[in-house]
Amino acid sequence: MEQAAQHYDYIIAGAGAAGLSLLCYLLEEPALRQKKILLLDREKKQTNDRTWCFWQVEEGPFESCLKHQWQHLHFYSEGFSSLLDISPYRYKMLESAAFYSFCLNKASAAANVTLVEDEILDISPDGAVQGKKAIYTGAYVFNSVKFKIPERGHYHHLLQHFKGYFIKTNEDAFNPEAPTLMDFRVAQHQDCRFVYVLPFNKREALVEYTGFSPAPLQQEQYDDELTHYLEHYLQHSEYEITRTEYGVIPMTNAPFRTSESDQVINIGTAGGATKASTGYTFSFIQRQCAAIAHNLAAGKTPLHQLAASRGKYKLYDSIFLRVLSEKEYPAWKVFEAMFSKLPAATILKFLNEDSTLLEDLQVMRSVDKGTFASAAAKELYLTFKRVLPK
Ligand SMILES: Cc1cc2nc3c(=O)[nH]c(=O)nc-3n(C[C@H](O)[C@H](O)[C@H](O)COP(=O)(O)OP(=O)(O)OC[C@H]3O[C@@H](n4cnc5c(N)ncnc54)[C@H](O)[C@@H]3O)c2cc1C
Repeated sequence: MEQAAQHYDYIIAGAGAAGLSLLCYLLEEPALRQKKILLLDREKKQTNDRTWCFWQVEEGPFESCLKHQWQHLHFYSEGFSSLLDISPYRYKMLESAAFYSFCLNKASAAANVTLVEDEILDISPDGAVQGKKAIYTGAYVFNSVKFKIPERGHYHHLLQHFKGYFIKTNEDAFNPEAPTLMDFRVAQHQDCRFVYVLPFNKREALVEYTGFSPAPLQQEQYDDELTHYLEHYLQHSEYEITRTEYGVIPMTNAPFRTSESDQVINIGTAGGATKASTGYTFSFIQRQCAAIAHNLAAGKTPLHQLAASRGKYKLYDSIFLRVLSEKEYPAWKVFEAMFSKLPAATILKFLNEDSTLLEDLQVMRSVDKGTFASAAAKELYLTFKRVLPK
């Protein structure tokens, strides 16, 4: 017998960073209080499966569940090392378990939200979500579940891949006020490799080894690099690994589809929220989801005025991805040049896509002009080729 579909105003397909952020923004809008919302995920979200870092000047909606925040960041490279004051920004760290529980408590307290655990098998353009247990239909479906890495073509396709150890030492070993954003003193292997260190107290920290390259490493390679880093740079042979974290994030300038149809809207990584040149996604998810909720509350379509907002940064990201891919100029030197010549806040503003044209020019003047001018010329040529009629 055919199953009867359960109908909702909004289906949030995927209760990860984007789905749950969107839910919180929707619940903040008085105009949307009567909307029937379905939150669908294949699993109960409760584990610390990711650690999100991002920077903000103002307080955000998830302030109460931050694990830590810092006002200074270390940068290390062969030719420049410094403890940078990032004010007015704060570098914030959020563990996923705290975030999931904060958002799911809000969902449980809202009479208009239904939570369902189901495996999503398909989402059709008319807003029908085929689950293993039932079919659900929505006036809008917000999808963070299914995404295709866009076709290759003349685009750059790199990955940000990383493995981290949560470690505990027997003696005081860290300064909890001074995390490391990037430490490029590790072997580069003709790639872009660095370590970051997030100390929670004097004896506990997350030490994460990161690479930007076309393919991830073998697990043993991350382990070797992390062990080496802990011995040589943190001078610790005695530590306990309490947990590990592993992840791969797409770094591509190929365009992600922001929607599958008028009714199926892609959000989060699926909706192109990942910044191609850095892999940072969390802040962009916040902007995307806040704007969608705002648009809906104002009676507009979800993506109203959203697509055009990241224009110039897409070009900047493409240029940087080309520099990374061509490997003619070491990536660490790009970061070293920026961090040694400019205030950290200017760089963070630029990377957060909030910079003025003048600040963009300051960043551009700080890096190797020959390398970037050549990469820019090639990217501009490709951009025009893509938009001009064949
Ligand atoms: C380990 C890790 C660390 C990261 N750290 C940072 C960071 O520090 N800063 C930053 O800005 N970005 C970071 N990112 C990148 C990005 O912020 C995260 O990947 C973020 O979780 C993306 O959010 P999302 O909602 O798009 O996807 P997810 O959070 O992965 O959510 C997708 C949801 O869909 C569900 N799902 C998937 N398939 C199905 C299905 N068939 N049926 C039902 N449910 C399904 C999953 O269970 C999941 O809950 C990190 C990524 C990883 C992997």
